[in-house]
Amino acid sequence: MTKTVDVLGIPFINTDMDGLVQMLDGRLSRGEKTFVVTANPEIVMHALKDPDYFSVLKRADVVTPDGIGIVIGAKLLGTPIQERLTGYDLIWRLFQLSAEKGYKVYFLGAAPDVIEEAARRAVEAVPGLRLVGYHHGYFDVDDRRVIEEIKAREPDILLVGLGFPKQEKWIARFGPELKKGLMIGVGGSFDVLAGKVKRAPLIWRKLYLEWLYRLIQQPSRWRRMLALPRFLVTIFKIRFRAK
Ligand code: UDP
Repeated sequence: MTKTVDVLGIPFINTDMDGLVQMLDGRLSRGEKTFVVTANPEIVMHALKDPDYFSVLKRADVVTPDGIGIVIGAKLLGTPIQERLTGYDLIWRLFQLSAEKGYKVYFLGAAPDVIEEAARRAVEAVPGLRLVGYHHGYFDVDDRRVIEEIKAREPDILLVGLGFPKQEKWIARFGPELKKGLMIGVGGSFDVLAGKVKRAPLIWRKLYLEWLYRLIQQPSRWRRMLALPRFLVTIFKIRFRAK
């Protein structure tokens, strides 16, 4: 069992990217179903006020620390986490794995033109990637056609980019209908993959400023981003109480 670190009630996996990919590959090869959540401070703060969402996160097999805020939070709590593991980095590793081992991949989410472009770019960038289908993310969740189509394609790796909390709730509701597979909420990754949203350059990420880069690109997100300082305040409060 890979070790976890508890941050505000959520158990985060404490490993590096190679360790994570190895573990997921093992589960895939044994046909074990796996629900992965890549959680940032916004997700954790949302879970604290939405008990339904909190219990969905508790059902995940793996929660990765996606966001430097989680890594800083774990350190402040005195239980450091090895490294940040983002959904976007993980999907590229999974594409490689698909090409090497033949795992079937399905994309669900984003606008129709975005998902089409994301699929085109992924197939072009990773020769041998076994993309078995894709569908945009603007459908009625009660319309069963989407889940039936996914079931028919039997993906090993299902990437769900509907934004949180919708994507995790969708996986918790429909995942049980699938016989196998790795299911991951990937947020806005398809927008980045399609080139619609630019990812922060490495130097910004190294300086822990990815949040600022995203804010400049999408200023409408400012309200959502208040979750990061609120998260850190919550961590500080716990830390003081513990002393
Ligand atoms: N999205 C979708 N269906 C919806 C709502 C959103 O497919 O009903 C997509 C949206 O087009 C975008 C992603 O979900 O690709 C959400 O991206 P965002 O960056 O807001 O998500 P986060 O990373 O914060 O979860």
